[in-house]
Amino acid sequence: MNSGGARTIIGLEVHVQLNTASKLFCPCPTDASGPNTAVCGTCLGLPGSKPFLNQKAVEMAVRVALALNCRLNAEFFFSRKTYFYPDLAKNYQITQFEKPVGENGFVALSSGKKIRIRRLQLEEDPASLVHEGSAQSSSFSLVDYNRSGIPLVEIVTMPDMDGPKEAREFLNALTVTLDYLGVFVHGKNALKADANISIEGNNRVEVKNVTGFRAVETALLSEDERQRKIIAMGEKVARETRGFDEKTGSTFSMREKEAEEDYGYIFEPDIPVVSLSEEYIAGLKESLPELFPQKVEKFKKLGLPDYDARVIASEPVIAGIFEQAIKHVKPQTAAKFLTREVMGILNYNKITPREAGLEEKPIVELLKMIEGGRVGEKNAKEAMIKLVLEKKDPREFLEKSDLLLDLDEKEILKALEEVLAENPHAVADLRASKAKAVNFIVGQVVRRTKGKANAKIVQEMLAKKIKGI
Ligand code: ZN
Ligand code: MN
Repeated sequence: MNSGGARTIIGLEVHVQLNTASKLFCPCPTDASGPNTAVCGTCLGLPGSKPFLNQKAVEMAVRVALALNCRLNAEFFFSRKTYFYPDLAKNYQITQFEKPVGENGFVALSSGKKIRIRRLQLEEDPASLVHEGSAQSSSFSLVDYNRSGIPLVEIVTMPDMDGPKEAREFLNALTVTLDYLGVFVHGKNALKADANISIEGNNRVEVKNVTGFRAVETALLSEDERQRKIIAMGEKVARETRGFDEKTGSTFSMREKEAEEDYGYIFEPDIPVVSLSEEYIAGLKESLPELFPQKVEKFKKLGLPDYDARVIASEPVIAGIFEQAIKHVKPQTAAKFLTREVMGILNYNKITPREAGLEEKPIVELLKMIEGGRVGEKNAKEAMIKLVLEKKDPREFLEKSDLLLDLDEKEILKALEEVLAENPHAVADLRASKAKAVNFIVGQVVRRTKGKANAKIVQEMLAKKIKGI
């Protein structure tokens, strides 16, 4: 069978850590550093210990469910998922099965396509295993129980994604939403996913436990390729569970696929049924912040093109700076500089706005200087690079480097007249009203004044002069 034109079908189960101070069922902190330093009887699964549900985690999970357009279950409960593995001291994970927090939601991609969400549940993270050597051939493993009991939401999608690129888009859209909600924990463990992937008409493979954005995309790309090769050779893709090895960037066979029922879920008797009142739900609905779609609409109403509005809204840090900036400068000024220069610099250096630690104040200052004609585009960009990479204050940098446009009109006029006198051929072109000649003259004046003449003023002066030529 040839897979040439066949579609890749992907469904994801994404685990995201919620930004709580303590674990889901015990008071242990979520931000410990040394191995096995944030542990207690409950998260170590000692006999007789009892779980207590973290109210904040419930609140966050409900807010996420609302933001992802899920139908809420006003009553839900927890179940024990039984399996035997060293990362799970109790031999069962407290999770949800029969009644999760939310069901039937969706995430809209920029194309307008909706990726449906089947369920959203609250559960505890198992401990982490530290493998000596590679995941496939380790001689021994260490267990760190700091992660045992960390609150997670598991978001299960329908198989709606047409390939690795769309899966990546979905994850981006999802994390932008979580970021706006303030529940997203940035960092290496922020996101773990299991992926179901198949080539239309063939068996489905589950790739388990992929950590991080980039790894999910790499795993999906390599698995897509592997399955297509098998099909191209006329063989059958085995229905199985595979692991992902970050070192090789490829998947490897783990075991035959087990069914959900094989886990033998039973009701968790130590945690009472959670029942959410109408007032509680209404209060949380009320308190939801503006999310991506609302931001896009708002920015478009300010006159931004659809593309710019989306680019800014898709980076909550940039969106925050933009909203501060437009209290002082025109939305277009802020949007142009943020989307072209600021995000260009970040992308080029492969850092996120959050990693760059971008703050509103110095950038707003810089934007005011740009709009006030105090700094040219090239030097504003230079100042921004210094801010991102060296944490240099833009104003200070521009002043110290003598890059401000502080020539007065008399000095600018003098330079302009000199340039015109030295370039008779350009003056002739000006007479023939060639736009190129205008740019040339303006560029020469800016250069002659060592960048201290405002190009806009030069242009205006030249326009007046042309009338006289
Ligand atoms: Zn604990
Ligand atoms: Mn899970």
